[in-house]
Amino acid sequence: MMEVFDQLESEVRSYCRTFPTVFTKACGHRIWDERGREFIDFFAGAGALNYGHNNPSLKDAMLEYIAADGVTHSLDMATVAKRDFLNAFQRIALAPRNMNYKVMFPGPTGTNSVEAALKIARTVTGRSNVIAFTNAFHGMTLGSLALTGNGGKRDAAGVSLTDVTRMPYHSYMGSDLDTIDLLEQHLNDTSSGLDLPAALILETVQAEGGVNVATNPWLRRLQSLLKRFEILLIVDDIQVGCGRTGPFFSFEPADLKPDIICLSKSLSGYGIPFAVTLLRPELDQWEPGKHNGTFRGHNLAFITATAALEHYWTDVNLSTNVKRRGKIVHDQLTKLAESHGGSVRGRGLIQGIEFAESEIAGRVSREAFDRGLIIETAGRQDEVLKILPPLTISDKALCEGLEIIGESVEATLAAMAAP
Ligand SMILES: *Cc1c(COP(=O)(O)O)cnc(C)c1O
Repeated sequence: MMEVFDQLESEVRSYCRTFPTVFTKACGHRIWDERGREFIDFFAGAGALNYGHNNPSLKDAMLEYIAADGVTHSLDMATVAKRDFLNAFQRIALAPRNMNYKVMFPGPTGTNSVEAALKIARTVTGRSNVIAFTNAFHGMTLGSLALTGNGGKRDAAGVSLTDVTRMPYHSYMGSDLDTIDLLEQHLNDTSSGLDLPAALILETVQAEGGVNVATNPWLRRLQSLLKRFEILLIVDDIQVGCGRTGPFFSFEPADLKPDIICLSKSLSGYGIPFAVTLLRPELDQWEPGKHNGTFRGHNLAFITATAALEHYWTDVNLSTNVKRRGKIVHDQLTKLAESHGGSVRGRGLIQGIEFAESEIAGRVSREAFDRGLIIETAGRQDEVLKILPPLTISDKALCEGLEIIGESVEATLAAMAAP
């Protein structure tokens, strides 16, 4: 069944190894393979499918646009679809939160958004160094890869990954050491060897890095420290934005006012590649065409993104539901951790469970796949099982998926205990 991929596709392929089957059809939280097996999707395109697969409201908007011969490709020319998106984003995402940002279309993927953020931060400040955190994940192109912590990914660069200083993330050194103290000490000490950075890039929850959650006081302290040293704050909200933790932007509860914000993954709502880089207006010092590209803002993505904003973000229902369901997941995982060992962490509908031994998470993911659940691992040794269902999943399916996790943990531990 997988022979064609084994023979013809590059060795670089990854998720099709973890989930070795050929998928045909998907709807909401469900996805089917060509053998007719049905899976619950607790991976949701790594956070690109917050509103589920082939969401009907978004699909209708897109089909209508296609049927009317709406412009599909237009470089970054002005189209009605783009105007509607900019207006909707302003009206629904930014204005109600008192956020004043220029919207830049940097290219269709998350890493494009990060690269654009880096370029403008370095240009505006005239500094080259950027601070990134331990276990950070910001993408695979060279600028973003330099920010990314994962050694396995960094190895592939083939060139030196420079102009980045690494600092420990929240609780990286355990609970006794406040890592902001360390950063502050470095910034205060002119002999610390830290070159004054243009920016610091932050994930409020490190998703790929193992579902590491920063607390609101830590985030606020970080922001005021950066302000004091006139270092720009870039928030990479690519995976945990668009409602994943509850609010549209993950940093809302901490009341952060980032200078630059990166969004992608679920921004189009439909799984269509789409990214933006939001800039504080004073930072929008680009010259026309200085960061160009063929696919900077795609009209089908404008259509589905606008529909998603209008459908899910004009009231608080989705946000409230994410928080409520996050608690269901958290409670269930906590029970599992209490009976089988492990620790639980997360916010909203990104939750992780780390077991006593690092190999358990991967084995649980494989057992779950055999039982009809798609779920991925995260962290430096893939030691964290990452729960990332569509935000629109029903309570019933959510509980079914959690039950499969429980069965898979038991099966894994039984297999490991067997002689
Ligand atoms: C996925 C991700 C990226 C990279 O996005 P791509 O579309 O894969 O380039 C960057 N930052 C974070 C936090 C991500 O989760």
